[in-house]
Amino acid sequence: MDTASTGAYDGVRTAPRALATEAVHAGRDDLARQGLHAPPIDLSTTYPSYDSRAEAARIDAFATDGAGLAGPPVYARLGNPTVARFETALARLEGTETAVAFASGMAALSAVLLALPTPGSARAGQGPRHVVAVRPLYGCSDHLLTAGLLGTEVTWADPDGIADALRPDTGLVMVESPANPTLAEVDLRAVADACGPVPLLADNTFATPVLQRPAGQGARLVLHSATKYLGGHGDVLAGVVACDEEFAGRLRRIRFATGGVLHPLAGYLLLRGLSTLPVRVRAASANAAELARRLAADPRVARVRYPRLGGAMVAFEVHDDPHEVISLVRLVTPAVSLGSVDTLIQHPASLSHRIVDADDRRGAGVTDRLLRLSVGLEDVDDLWADLDRALGAPRERQGAEALREAVR
Ligand code: PLP
Repeated sequence: MDTASTGAYDGVRTAPRALATEAVHAGRDDLARQGLHAPPIDLSTTYPSYDSRAEAARIDAFATDGAGLAGPPVYARLGNPTVARFETALARLEGTETAVAFASGMAALSAVLLALPTPGSARAGQGPRHVVAVRPLYGCSDHLLTAGLLGTEVTWADPDGIADALRPDTGLVMVESPANPTLAEVDLRAVADACGPVPLLADNTFATPVLQRPAGQGARLVLHSATKYLGGHGDVLAGVVACDEEFAGRLRRIRFATGGVLHPLAGYLLLRGLSTLPVRVRAASANAAELARRLAADPRVARVRYPRLGGAMVAFEVHDDPHEVISLVRLVTPAVSLGSVDTLIQHPASLSHRIVDADDRRGAGVTDRLLRLSVGLEDVDDLWADLDRALGAPRERQGAEALREAVR
């Protein structure tokens, strides 16, 4: 029986396997026995059944604990077999019990915030859910918390100040490491210890499970904008939370009620993206490390940030106008987002972090001269040639020209 067309894919338990093996096989373990190679894409929005008593019982069970439905999904907002394959695979890569996929990274974060218990009462609207978070975060995540759009109240803290910022009503601690866009890193194990019983959410979008598995360091929730490295080709918008079954049940019920589901075609593309994730991340990281080295040695560059962990993101500050650099690249694509096979550059103060108050932004290290580079798989010398040209005239010559200009 093809579980992908008649029922939710519930995974096949196998012996522990290396990350590279999981990346290629997780979520696909049942295929060969069905005579299939590529995973089927199930586009059904509804699933016929002649037994409505059984359907009622299954919906009741889902409403109680949000457990993944055994058998056909009933309706696509409750679950989809193709998406379930991606969820199973990502959970295997992150080393968590399960994962819940959403229509975008922001939909995933929204579901986490809505899933937090309301302090003092089981009834919604009894008071804000308190979140402690470390800046910088991706600009829209910062905005969602700062504006309290989903009824949360945020306290911003340094990693060392997390324990002091916790309150009896704190429902979540949130960090990004390496952070967008400064690539600041936190010691996840130390942060998880400081959280005590409060769940820690680590946004692992930049590192991916290839470089870091936050669940193994004490994070209860691992969030991805799957739009980035997991998809890997700039053609899928998606989010996912890897976590334990209990929290996943809450997230599935929120997803069912609010509708931020992932489309099955996106689930298929993400599963395909995962199979090359380790090779893409390692190759792009090697390029990024080399570009970080060349930028750091260049007098036109004031400062370079490259994570101790490694990775394919580089942030750097220029002495001159960063907008000029953006306007002059030709091989590198001037665009927001990251994690694609091609190299992208953007100016966070203008784009990814524009929505954050300027003082808060600068206070978090997102200066007006900072540029963020998402390094892809092109030849590193071609990338450097483009950046070198876009950075403008060598600084000594610039100085001489400026002098001549002043004398004239
Ligand atoms: N988290 C990080 C670190 C991000 O960079 C982004 C988007 O850039 C998000 C979350 C939000 O993800 P999405 O754009 O898929 O909603």
